[in-house]
Amino acid sequence: MINIVLFGKPGAGKGTQAEFLKTKYNLTHISTGDVFRYNLKNNTPLGEEARGYMDRGELVPDALTIKMLQDEVEKNPDTAGFLFDGFPRTIAQAEALDAFLVSKGWQVDATVGLEADDEILVQRLLERGKTSGRADDQDENLIRNRYQEYNEKTAPLMEYYNKQGKFHAVDGIGEIAEITNRLSSVIDTLN
Ligand code: AMP
Repeated sequence: MINIVLFGKPGAGKGTQAEFLKTKYNLTHISTGDVFRYNLKNNTPLGEEARGYMDRGELVPDALTIKMLQDEVEKNPDTAGFLFDGFPRTIAQAEALDAFLVSKGWQVDATVGLEADDEILVQRLLERGKTSGRADDQDENLIRNRYQEYNEKTAPLMEYYNKQGKFHAVDGIGEIAEITNRLSSVIDTLN
């Protein structure tokens, strides 16, 4: 069992890299953003609760997000491990994840942060917004609001995991395959 958390600001390439890593390491990929978007699209009660926050580029409240994440984990009891993408994003979520995994005899094995300059990422997201159809990628104010949320609430998690010796920074600028290699060299040191 290997559990990995991918960190990075919106646009840093978490989703792209997760697609490669999940195949390479046979992991179950859970993107909380994707799960929320699925629920929005299908107008589920969870989607309705999350909609306003997502439209404003704010984080969805912890209780709702943690419950959703736990449900996703429970759907995959026989997995070889999880690749968490976009979760945790607050200290409360990180503590809940730790406690939840421990209750199953598991743990977070490593966290990897994809690093990139804000201005490069803003341009990348605006570009992505032209084709992704995501409203939160089309408005620069919303993008900047998501970065502010990241800096205030998510950035402290790197220190949280660093104290446990579980944080690894990876340069997120370069060719996609090159970045996959950088991430793989961290994952290959586990076990
Ligand atoms: P993402 O696709 O990861 O950029 O997430 C899109 C949006 O979903 C975010 O701006 C939040 O509104 C919401 N979201 C995704 N993951 C989380 C999380 N772990 N905690 C709170 N909100 C989240």
